[in-house]
Amino acid sequence: MFIDSHAHLTSDTLFPEVEQILDRAKKHNLTKIVNICTDLKTLERGLALSKEHPWIYNAGSTTPHDVKEEGEAFFSHFFQAAQKGLLVAVGETGLDYYYQHSPKELQKEFFIRYIELAKEFDLPLIIHCRDAFNDFFDIIDAHYPKKHAGVLHCFTGTLEDAKKLIQRKWYISFSGIITFKKSHDLRQVAKWVPLQNMLIETDSPYLAPQGKRGKTNEPSYISETAEMIAQLKNLSIEEVTLATSQNARELFKLRG
Ligand SMILES: [Zn+2]
Repeated sequence: MFIDSHAHLTSDTLFPEVEQILDRAKKHNLTKIVNICTDLKTLERGLALSKEHPWIYNAGSTTPHDVKEEGEAFFSHFFQAAQKGLLVAVGETGLDYYYQHSPKELQKEFFIRYIELAKEFDLPLIIHCRDAFNDFFDIIDAHYPKKHAGVLHCFTGTLEDAKKLIQRKWYISFSGIITFKKSHDLRQVAKWVPLQNMLIETDSPYLAPQGKRGKTNEPSYISETAEMIAQLKNLSIEEVTLATSQNARELFKLRG
């Protein structure tokens, strides 16, 4: 029984086929999916989708890439959704200094605004962080020094970054990237991260696992990531799915 802690079901890539995708997910033992909404369109679709399918939950914020173009326009929509209790998390927010599609200072400004939003409605954070861990930790320590404050999604950082997250009692989520041939270092990190701090995700439609490379990723492909973690940690896949599902339930306060 899997929980996909991060999928973009209402993105333009997946949404046209979302009913078939959810059918396949069910057939592959997914019990819950956290859908990540990044703008007004994906949020409205997400809220409608979870009414139809109560096992789909929504999280939302503008991504660090898009805060320059869309940050101001959509903030109030995410605020209202959080206020109405329609979100299980705020994000994916954070910092991306690798691409820098939006200026650093503006990324930081919106990251802090989204942290304040999460605090106001007692929601966990879903963080996208790339090449920006120093500023990430500075901001978190100053603005949200809380146990289980959130999850670092699609983690690709170093062992040192992972240790700093665990010290702060954050969750770390691994995606299909850990199944890629070249991801030796990341597999060493996953081997080290305690199971009680771990989530798994697909980040669909992106990052299909090694066995599905070149395909559009979807939640039903999540088992390959769980299998890799089981292998690395010398556990059964059941142990991995049980623990990561329990972690997701606790972090996002999911029903059932
Ligand atoms: Zn994502």
